[in-house]
Amino acid sequence: MNETLLMIPGPTRVSSRVLKAMSESIVNHRSAVFGEILTETNEMMSEVFQTQNQSYLITGSGTAAMEAALGNVISEGDKVLNIVGGKFGERFMQITETHGGVPVELEVEWGNAANPEDIRYILEEEEEIKAVTMVHNETSTGVENPIEEVGKILKDFDALYVVDTVSSLGGADVQVDNFGIDICVTGSQKCLAAPPGMAAITLNDDAWKVVDKTESKTYYLNLKKYRKSGSKAVPETPYTPSVSLMYAMNEALKIIMEEGLEARIKRHEQAAKATVNGVKAIGLELFASEDASSSTVTAVNMPEGMTDKNFRGTMRNKYRIELAGGQDHLKGNVFRIGHMGNITHREIISTIAAIEMSLKEFGYEVELGTGVAAVQESYMPGNNSLEFF
Ligand code: PLP
Repeated sequence: MNETLLMIPGPTRVSSRVLKAMSESIVNHRSAVFGEILTETNEMMSEVFQTQNQSYLITGSGTAAMEAALGNVISEGDKVLNIVGGKFGERFMQITETHGGVPVELEVEWGNAANPEDIRYILEEEEEIKAVTMVHNETSTGVENPIEEVGKILKDFDALYVVDTVSSLGGADVQVDNFGIDICVTGSQKCLAAPPGMAAITLNDDAWKVVDKTESKTYYLNLKKYRKSGSKAVPETPYTPSVSLMYAMNEALKIIMEEGLEARIKRHEQAAKATVNGVKAIGLELFASEDASSSTVTAVNMPEGMTDKNFRGTMRNKYRIELAGGQDHLKGNVFRIGHMGNITHREIISTIAAIEMSLKEFGYEVELGTGVAAVQESYMPGNNSLEFF
């Protein structure tokens, strides 16, 4: 099979080491051997979250962890400040409503980052906000939100700080403890470069105090059960986990440890910079404001007159490179390049080259090689390039 290069913001390409790990025999999920794998995987997860907290793996996609986060701290009528600047900010708001919470929405124009001072203002004006939700990397718009600055503001308030790092953890700097994040969630299939289907969550003591006082309406996602099973002499998950995906997560996290978190984050930053430089050199416009642009996904305005079908269809069918489209009102108006997980200069160069060819084929004035040259330049020594990959 001619494998398509996934340049989408998840799922991302999974290395052969991880695929091989998944093919190991299934063991009893209530056994010492699995307990060891679970403990090791959770511990590595906490390292990537940069926290001293316990982490918990949940068989389910990233949304399961988002729902676990809110479904265990919201009671009927609780006010939650939802910062909404895209599809996943909206999702947190919908989950708030699903669990009987009352959303207080801070609407942020799609393409911009949230302004921390707006958050302070609302917290000062509105009484009894129980939690604040923020999406670190708004995958739908290619915007990275200022989670560190918001964390500093939240230190002055009682509200829990709940952060979605589904498309940033393992690719951008997420310091759960230092940034004052009370609950942080992520998913397997993006920067962690594992297959889809696993989610992870970590909670600090402040968050657990609220969880312990809250009557959770979730059954599968009841975090007290994850804590209880996880603290047994032989740690377990409350329900049968995907054993194969646990092997995959374990291996993917080992790869992250081997690369080193710092080097991995730098590699992502460099891929983002190279992508932005390449796209701009072709003459395309970024959708997100540049000071807020993400280090894991770049959203680009579709050039006028070009249809999504022609552009992404050509990229997929002719050049075997999968790009993501726009979501909701951005459908057809934006395309997104994911540069997360195992991505290096090789994939960025190929992608920008294929974008040039696809645009030229449809009559756009593109001088072949201009975008590629900009990418190459971004990776040259002296341009903040990595010493190794
Ligand atoms: N949050 C963000 C920022 C995402 O990008 C995604 C998926 O794209 C999700 C949450 C939801 O994750 P999943 O599709 O794994 O449920």
